[in-house]
Parts: sequence; C-alpha cells; structure tokens
Amino acid sequence: MALKFFNTLTRSVEEFVPLDPAGKQVGMYCCGPTVHDSAHIGNFRTFVFADLVRRYLTFKGLTVRHVMNITDVEDKIIARVRAANVSLREYTGKYEAAFFEDLKILSCLPPHDTPRATEFIPEIIALVEKLMARGLAYKATDGSVYFSIDKYRGCGCVYGQLLKLNFDEMRAGERVKSDEYAKESVADFALWKARVPEDGAVFWPSPWGEGRPGWHIECSAMAMKLLGPSFDLHLGGEDLIFPHHEDEIAQSEGAHLQPPGQRFVKHWMHGAHLLVEGKKMSKSLGNFYVLRDLTAKGFTGREIRYLLLSAHYRGTFNFTLDGLHSARTSLARIDECLTKLREVAGHAEAPAEASLVTAVSAALDEDLNISAAWGAIFEWVGQMNVQLAANSLTPAQAAAALAAWRTVDAVLGVGAAPEAEVPAELAALLEQRQAARKAKDFKRSDAIRDELKAKGWVIEDTPKGPRFKKL
Ligand code: AMP
Ligand code: ZN
Repeated sequence: MALKFFNTLTRSVEEFVPLDPAGKQVGMYCCGPTVHDSAHIGNFRTFVFADLVRRYLTFKGLTVRHVMNITDVEDKIIARVRAANVSLREYTGKYEAAFFEDLKILSCLPPHDTPRATEFIPEIIALVEKLMARGLAYKATDGSVYFSIDKYRGCGCVYGQLLKLNFDEMRAGERVKSDEYAKESVADFALWKARVPEDGAVFWPSPWGEGRPGWHIECSAMAMKLLGPSFDLHLGGEDLIFPHHEDEIAQSEGAHLQPPGQRFVKHWMHGAHLLVEGKKMSKSLGNFYVLRDLTAKGFTGREIRYLLLSAHYRGTFNFTLDGLHSARTSLARIDECLTKLREVAGHAEAPAEASLVTAVSAALDEDLNISAAWGAIFEWVGQMNVQLAANSLTPAQAAAALAAWRTVDAVLGVGAAPEAEVPAELAALLEQRQAARKAKDFKRSDAIRDELKAKGWVIEDTPKGPRFKKL
C-alpha cells in the first residue's frame, strides 16, 4: 500500500515518493537539540517521532540517511557560556553527551550523521557568500550580514511557503538579529552576526569580519552538505515552522543550488507540541521534565517511549504521570502475552504471521496512524490470549506470532521487557516450596509464597511448571 504523510508545504496528506529515481534512498533531516541545557520531554516527543518516521521508512524497504544536527552555537548558548565562564565546547559538550545518552534510553536509533554547527563554519560562510553574490544578502551598518526578503521576493521566490504571511503588515527595511522571532515582526534576518563584546571568545573570521553564524543558516548549510541541495524529508517540532524552517527554505532556495524544478525539501513534517499535565511546560509550574526526572521516579525509557508514541504526531499531546502508569500496564499486557507465547514456542522457529504486520502497516501508511496501529496490536494480544488460554496454539504458530511481533517492534522500538533475573536465593526458596507442597505441608508452602511476595516476586504455576513473575 502507498505510504502517505502530511506535508506542511502543501497542507495535505500526500503519497511519499522518494526523489531517488530508483525509489530506494531517502534523505531525512531533523533539526536537533540546541545544547544550551538538558533536552526536555517535549524535545524528546519530536525526536521519538523522527525515530518512528525513520524506522517506518526502513520497514518499507527504503534506505534512509538520517541527519540530526547539534546546534552548538546560537543566542541562548552564547548567553549561557558567558554566565558559566567556560569555553563553548566545554559548555555544549556536557549537554550533547547527556542528550545522546537520553536518546539511547528512549531506544532512538542513532542518526547516521550528527553534525555540529561549529564544525561547518566554512560551509556556512560559503553559503552566505553565494547569497551575497546573488544579491540576496547584504552587510548592514552593524557589520552583520542579513538576508533581504524584498530581494528574494523580487526574484519571484515565495517567502511564506510553510505558512501564510501578511506582507502588508510588514515593516519594510527592518531587520531582526535574534535567532527567534514572531511572524508579526518578520523582517530581514541575520545570516552572519558581527562580533560583539558579549560573544566573548565565540567568533570566527569571515569575509565580513569576525562573527558567528545565525541559527537558520547553520541548518541550511549542514543539511545541503550532507544530503545534497534537494532532499526528501525535513522534520522538526511545530514551533520551528516559522521562522526557522521558512528561513531555511529562503536561504537554501535563494542560493539556487537545486536542479531546475526541484525544491530544497520535498516533504516537510512537523510534530505537534507536548503539554505536561495539561499545561505548557515551565519550571515555575513544576511540570518541566527532563528525562532524568522521570527515570528518577522509577519510569523506564521504554515506558516513556511508549507514552510518547501513543498518540498521533500532529495532535498536541498531554503527557501525564498517570499516562506513564497506564503505559506500564499496557506494556505489561504485551509482555505477559509474549512470555506465554515464548513458553509455547519453545525452540520452534517460523516466519512472521502476516495479519499483525499487515494491520499495523496499513495503519502507519496513513500518515502514521499510530492509534490504529496500537488498536491492531491490542486486538492481536487479545486473540493470542484467547488461544493461549485454550491451549490451541502449536509451537510453530506461537513462533510465527513472536516473529510478527518482532517485525512490528522493529518499527515501534518498545521491545520486550528483559527477562527479570531471578536471584539465586529465590530459586532455593522455590525448591523448598515445591518440596513442601509435595509433602502436603501447605502451611510451609504458603509461608514461602508470602516471603517471596515480600521480596517482590510471585510464583505462577504454568503447564511447564512454576515460574517467577516480578510484582
Ligand atoms: P530546541 O532544542 O529547542 O531547538 O528543540 C529541539 C526540538 O524539540 C525541535 O524540533 C523543537 O521543535 C522541539 N520541541 C521544543 N519544545 C517542544 C515541545 N514542548 N513539544 C514537542 N517538541 C518540542
Ligand atoms: Zn534546524
């Protein structure tokens, strides 16, 4: 079935067709973290969404090159570096390392390239030079280089491709130097920011004097260097649509590097934002979570990932602690079914049974309809449980069901809970319990059961004998 995604550029759900004439290779860029602080759970909603897109494209037989940049120089970082009085690299390195650890905890596959903006300064300068040469950029009296929206529009290009802008309300000739601004104040934006004393040691030489790049040009330069001037997919959170992504289009298409008739990016996808307990995250409301806040409360990366993946990427998602508890229950349902399937399968092996895979894939083909995918999964769990209870599955059928789950999980990445290690002392207690039961000493066997329970374990009697289960 055809894979369809919503494209912010056309505001419609479209079939996803790779630019590659062979229909095989896909270039995908997702704006990465600004490493000025620890990434929060909202950021991770976007990165888990990008991971799902990548995994699903791979499932569809495509070869994906996933690029995620590290924004390691921009306004907020410079302010923090100044306050911390350390070098730029020392400051950003710490948050960058923590970010990669968090991605791993959430089972996000490592992107194939994770370029740092500071390592692409020559490419950034070359791109600004191209825009200068085309008359779309100019050096202002403050020594900074700006992108001229008027000149760009004068060439017949559209500024406002991802959203509608009302140019009558624009104040002609104004400029914005800051990396983030609202669409009400749309104006020429900075490509290269002239060095000011507050930048400290953060500056590079350039044909326009010492300075540093603007945030938007960083992504254009890194994306085009690694994926070519025209590529398939660009992702990010919805807050990046304007100005960041609109400016990326203007710079990249303004430099005129694309083959005739091709755009900088064919398909733009944006993940909606995450709220926590119904509100925009804020430190003062106490609802601002970085990953470690949640793992410290005892939640696993797997539970957090499951919750982040439980709703459609284009709807605002309300992340709650109750939601995390429900995620735990849902995953336990899956795990229990898988454990029983494993018991029946034993050493049998079989190719994946098709119905689960087909149902999940049909749902994800429709702009990643994840709710329908989970619906199909839980229906399947229900059917499996009925058959398991009736003892009607052969080992080969159970093995085929497990293989189907593995195929689906290669996309979802929630895995199966690792088999809990049973401490040796418990195994000894279990033996004593069996002996007590054999001797019909039920008082003793109940006492052992209670002792195990106090240690957090229960014994389940299965057709294959007793088995430990973590409470
Ligand atoms: P930043 O580190 O702020 O540049 O953000 C990294 C990514 O997280 C970007 O794609 C943002 O759009 C995204 N993002 C920021 N806040 C949220 C949020 N509350 N919910 C979902 N995504 C977010
Ligand atoms: Zn970006």
